[in-house]
Amino acid sequence: MSTEIRKVIIIGSGPAGFTAALYVARANLSPLVLAGVKWGGQLMLTTDVENYPGFPQGILGPDLMQLFRKQAERFGAEILNEDVTSVNLKSRPFKITADGKSYQTQSVIIATGAETQWLNLPNEQKLIGRGVSSCAPCDAFFFKDKKVVVIGGGDSAMEEALVLTKFASEVTIIHRREGFRASKILLDRAKKNKKVTFLTNSVVVDVLGQDKVEGVKVKDVKTGKEKELAVDGMFLAVGHKPLSDIFKGQIELDEQGYVKRIPQGDGPGKFQMTTSVEGVFVAGDVHDYHFRQAVTAAGYGSMAALEAEKWIEAQE
Ligand code: NAP
Repeated sequence: MSTEIRKVIIIGSGPAGFTAALYVARANLSPLVLAGVKWGGQLMLTTDVENYPGFPQGILGPDLMQLFRKQAERFGAEILNEDVTSVNLKSRPFKITADGKSYQTQSVIIATGAETQWLNLPNEQKLIGRGVSSCAPCDAFFFKDKKVVVIGGGDSAMEEALVLTKFASEVTIIHRREGFRASKILLDRAKKNKKVTFLTNSVVVDVLGQDKVEGVKVKDVKTGKEKELAVDGMFLAVGHKPLSDIFKGQIELDEQGYVKRIPQGDGPGKFQMTTSVEGVFVAGDVHDYHFRQAVTAAGYGSMAALEAEKWIEAQE
């Protein structure tokens, strides 16, 4: 184990992690970012990003993440593409193991994000960004006057469908059961929208199309009958999985595995991005299932970094 004790280690390298790194680096605290082998987060899986401010023409997701990374590096953030395999947050300095090496640190910013639950259909992965999406606010604009399906029966499915109705001509919500787990208010709103239709007791068994989505194959789970729907887009809303397995037993997580952010209340000296362990801060989608936007994650990253900086100052 290295005897060096870092001031801040950031785990994760999406918009939250790199923004935290930028702020911590500019505070002269020389952060180490354990970015993961597949660094960059969810935007690495998208094509055009048109809702990140500052890019009026839009920017490709991977290009945006390269810029985030460069900006943090410019101010001295050390970024290693290593996967964290375990953490020990029981006592300070905290210990973090990545790629077989151990690191020690006074504080940690957790920014490991969440991943979309995919259906693992034969064609699904290759059509991501070509009609398959998990983010209606990001991609709805590309489906002007087109037909799309949304998969899921929860709040996200209703919200995605409603966002899509602003552009698409028809939105079909495909749900595997008769009953919905979505809140009544959102379900009613979707039901009232003339562009929305529902296909219940149905599952999508394949996405059709070579270079872009041309349709979906749907199976009625009661009769077993299959049919094809000609559509241009398939939006997944079957849930997200927070990437928090390495923190189990070390820090409080909620029932779904999201890191619990435990604000200290209002007033001077009270921190907002705190967790159940003092010195461990959280930012981005690993704690936020509500907004899940690159810009909100980046915002959380800056907040966690500012608070980590203040906390370290107070320790010294
Ligand atoms: P969710 O509530 O877990 O709903 C996921 C939906 O996907 C369920 O209807 C589920 O079906 C379906 N599903 C799961 N796996 C599937 C599969 N393999 N094939 C087909 N369907 C599948 O997830 P969510 O909608 O993302 O919501 C997550 C949390 O965020 C919830 O607490 C929600 O209230 C909250 N949220 C709130 C808002 C808001 O208040 N505006 C907006 C979005 C999310 P079953 O029902 O059959 O299990």
